[in-house]
Amino acid sequence: MISASRLQERIETLGKIGQTPDGGVTRVALSKEDQEAQALVSVWMEQAGMRVYVDPAGNLIGRIDGKSKTAEPVVIGSHIDSVINGGKFDGTIGVIGGIEVVQHLKEEAVEPLRPIEVVAFCEEEGSRFQSGLFGSRAMIGTFSEQDLLIKDKQGITRREALIRFGLDPDKIKEEVTRSKGDLAAYLEMHIEQGPILEKMGAPVGIVTGIAGPSWMEIVVEGKAGHAGTLPMGLRKDALLGAGEIILSVEEICLSHKDTPIVGTVGHVEVLPGGSNIVPGRVAFSVDIRDIDVSRRNDVIDQVKTRAREICEKRGLRVSFNERIRINPVQCSPSIVDVMRAQSREMNLGCPELVSGAGHDAQLIAALTDMGMIFVRCKDGVSHNPEEFAEAVDIALGTELLSRVVLHYAMQ
Ligand SMILES: [Zn+2]
Repeated sequence: MISASRLQERIETLGKIGQTPDGGVTRVALSKEDQEAQALVSVWMEQAGMRVYVDPAGNLIGRIDGKSKTAEPVVIGSHIDSVINGGKFDGTIGVIGGIEVVQHLKEEAVEPLRPIEVVAFCEEEGSRFQSGLFGSRAMIGTFSEQDLLIKDKQGITRREALIRFGLDPDKIKEEVTRSKGDLAAYLEMHIEQGPILEKMGAPVGIVTGIAGPSWMEIVVEGKAGHAGTLPMGLRKDALLGAGEIILSVEEICLSHKDTPIVGTVGHVEVLPGGSNIVPGRVAFSVDIRDIDVSRRNDVIDQVKTRAREICEKRGLRVSFNERIRINPVQCSPSIVDVMRAQSREMNLGCPELVSGAGHDAQLIAALTDMGMIFVRCKDGVSHNPEEFAEAVDIALGTELLSRVVLHYAMQ
């Protein structure tokens, strides 16, 4: 049986490693805490009958064999690193839930046809080397030598950190990277990190896709001047132009009704930045995400067009620096179908939703069919000590995960 109490106990026990005074968790990748957490999770993997190893990229992997010696494995993954002062559910429920699935099979004496692997990916959050999804990037082969040279705040490179962790980063290419077709399917369970399931009164949701983020910086330039002597009609106030553009980001996103598109301006820099100076230059970030790549790109274009109009009207100059544009990823329609059918059998009535946050799953989708399950979390809060999900909800998500794993592991 899927055990809610075992899941809860393990989440609590793992949450003690790197616990912060206000009940949060700071467990960055390849740290002493990460080592301790991997050791603990390894014990649980072994109890579930898995062989355990850490690959040269720092991914902790547990594996049980299937009846077939040649079949590709069904892989369940997530992460056990955290952001600084994050919560104890983000990532961990996917790994602990994956182990529960394998333990459940062992207890029920079910021998799958395919091998099953549970992976805790290295540095999903990017809170140590500021470049996340490292373990999954290594697995799909898109990491570069540059990733190993990035330094943490203490000046330790990722290469050095891997070596201190007892690993050989020179073996990543040959031992970690897998090819398309090496995996039968990839499944990940994660807390929603948003408020939708809670609002719908649903414990578990089926993810249909992962939104693709785009980040750009917009720079508006006018002319700085004296706040007392420059008449209103003669100003070229960069902040007023920026303000109008920022409101237009909201307006454009809201005009796409009933879509998951979201636009955010989270950082604004005003120069010269004095309370008695008319702002001469403003640079601000714009983060736009959607599951539909063409709609997202259209919205980016609309924001740019509006920014040009606003700046022309106000006699300002505007420029755009695109930082990243990552494509959204769709979950495998056939996995979504299996999830739908299994959740109906469980009488679960799972809503379908998209993930606004990034996950290892969006990368592993390059190798195989990918599916994700979301578990309701309190007030949609995440990356925060207040993060919370009910054990019964996690158990229901794990039950669904287990059914989908079994579906793919038996064929
Ligand atoms: Zn996560």
